[in-house]
Amino acid sequence: MSYASVNTAVGFLKHLQVSIQQEPRLRDYEAWWTSQGDAISESIDRAGTPWLRMFDQWGQRIDEILYPPEYWTMLKRGYRAGAVWSCFEDKSPLSSYLIGYVTAFHDPGLYCPYTVSLSTAIPLSKYGTPELRARFLEPMLRRDDSAWQGATWMTEAKGGSDLGANVETTARPIGDRWLLTGEKYFASNAGAELAVVAARPETAPPGVRGLALFLLPKYKSDGTLNYYIRRMKNKIGTRSVPTGEVELKGSEAFLLGKAEWGIYLILEVLNLSRVANSVGSVALTQRAISEAWTFASQRVAFGRTISDHPLLKKQFEDRWAGLKLAFALAWESVQLLDEVWQEIPPLSDRHHLFRLVTHLAKYWTAEFAAQTAKWEMEVHGGMGTLAEYSAERWFREAMILAVWEGPAHRQILDGLEVMQRKHAHRLLWKHLEKWAEGRELKEIQEHVEQYLALEPARQEADAEILFRHLARFAGQCLLKKYESGEGSI
Ligand SMILES: Cc1cc2nc3c(=O)[nH]c(=O)nc-3n(C[C@H](O)[C@H](O)[C@H](O)COP(=O)(O)OP(=O)(O)OC[C@H]3O[C@@H](n4cnc5c(N)ncnc54)[C@H](O)[C@@H]3O)c2cc1C
Repeated sequence: MSYASVNTAVGFLKHLQVSIQQEPRLRDYEAWWTSQGDAISESIDRAGTPWLRMFDQWGQRIDEILYPPEYWTMLKRGYRAGAVWSCFEDKSPLSSYLIGYVTAFHDPGLYCPYTVSLSTAIPLSKYGTPELRARFLEPMLRRDDSAWQGATWMTEAKGGSDLGANVETTARPIGDRWLLTGEKYFASNAGAELAVVAARPETAPPGVRGLALFLLPKYKSDGTLNYYIRRMKNKIGTRSVPTGEVELKGSEAFLLGKAEWGIYLILEVLNLSRVANSVGSVALTQRAISEAWTFASQRVAFGRTISDHPLLKKQFEDRWAGLKLAFALAWESVQLLDEVWQEIPPLSDRHHLFRLVTHLAKYWTAEFAAQTAKWEMEVHGGMGTLAEYSAERWFREAMILAVWEGPAHRQILDGLEVMQRKHAHRLLWKHLEKWAEGRELKEIQEHVEQYLALEPARQEADAEILFRHLARFAGQCLLKKYESGEGSI
C-alpha cells in the first residue's frame, strides 16, 4: 500500500474527493507552508512562551506580547488566505475550515487564532447591531495584513466546564454599552483587537441561563487599554498562540443578541471552535501517520524496513482506515454547520443534529489524534522522544487538542444532553439510514433507547461506552457516504 496521499494536506483532501472551491488559493497557501512556514513554526514552538511587556518605560500599562517578526509573517499569511474573510465572501464557512485543515497539518496551534477570530466574527455578524458591524466586523474582514483578530474568553479560574457556576465576571449597563469586571483564566489570542466574552448582567439569575455574550474591544472609546494581560501561560504545546490571563476592570463591552439568549450564543461560539478542533485533530493525525510512514519505510530492523513487517504493516492499515473515518466525522460536522450557521434562536432540529455530530466528532477525533501521536512516537522508537525531531512536538500538540474546547467528558455529557432533551439520536438515525446496514442500525437504535431509560447516574457512568460506540457507528456510515462520492462538496 502506498501512503503518498497522506504526505500533503491538499493531497489527502483530493484523495477523499473533497472538491475545493478555491483550489489554487489553497495550494498556494500550502506551498507557502512548505517553503517558509514550517521553519518559522518550528522555531516559534522551540522558542517557547512569548514574552509579555506589561509597562512602558514611564510606568504605563501597555500589555504588549513580544514575538519575533517572523511570527507575524506566519500569522498574517493565513488571514490573507481567507481564514476569516472567505466565510463572508462565500457565505459559507467551508473554505475557512479547509484553510484550517492545511494550517493545522503544519501548525495545529496556529489554527487557534484563526478559529477564535472566526468564532468572534460570526456572532458579531449575526447578533451585532449595524453600527457594531460597521465598526468592528469590517476590520476583521480586511484582506491585507491589517485584519483584526478575535478571541473567545469564557473560562475563569474556578473551571471551564461548569460555566453557569464559575463565571463570576459581571456586566453593568451604562448607556449603549456595558462595563465588565472579572478575570478570564484561559484567554487564548490575548492581545486580539476584539473578544467575545461570557459575563453575567448584575440583575440576571444565577446559573447558566443568567449568562450573556458581550463583544469587548481591546481599546476603550477614549483610546486607553480596555483589558489587561496579567501573565502568559507556559503551555506544553500550541505555542504559536499566546494564551494569557486577562483582567477586566470596568471594561467597555457591547451586548450581542438578547441577554436571555446568552447561553445559546455561548454554545454557538464553542461549537464553531469544536468543529475546528475536530478538523485540526484530523490534520494532526494525518501528519503523524505521514511522518511515521516516512520513517518506517526507511528504518531497517531484522533485515527489512520496519514498515514491511506484518505487525507494523497492519497497524498502518488500521491507522489509515481510522484517519478516513475520523475525517468523515469531522467533515460531516463542517457540512452540517454550513447548513445551520446562520440560524438564530429558536434553533431547528437540523441544528440539534449538528450539535450531536459535533460532540461525536470532537470527542472521537481528539482521542484518535492523541492515540495516533503516541503511536507515531513509538514507531520512531527512542528518536520519537527527542525534542529535536517533530514526533515529540505532534505528541505535545495532540495532548492540548483533547482538552481545548472541553475534554472528552464534556463532549460526552453535552452529547447526552442533546439526546435527552432534543432526541437528537433519532435525527441521527434518519440522517445515517441511507448508509447504515439495516440490522446494525436497528440494534444501535434499541440499545440507545434502552440506555436513555436508565436512571441518570447509571446513564452518566456508562456514557463513554455508549458515546464511543455511537461515534464509531456514525463515522463508519459517513465514510460510506464520502467513499460513494455523495459527501464531496
Ligand atoms: C491551551 C488552552 C487554551 C485555552 N484557551 C481558552 C480560551 O481562549 N478561552 C476559554 O474560554 N477557555 C480556554 N481554555 C480552557 C478550556 O476550555 C478548559 O480547559 C476546558 O473547558 C476545561 O475546563 P477546566 O480546565 O477548567 O477543567 P474543569 O472544568 O475544572 O474540569 C476538570 C476535569 O473534570 C472533568 N469534568 C468536569 N465536569 C465533569 C462531569 N460532570 N463529569 C465528569 N467529568 C467532569 C473535565 O472534563 C476535566 O477533565 C483553554 C485551554 C487550553 C488547554
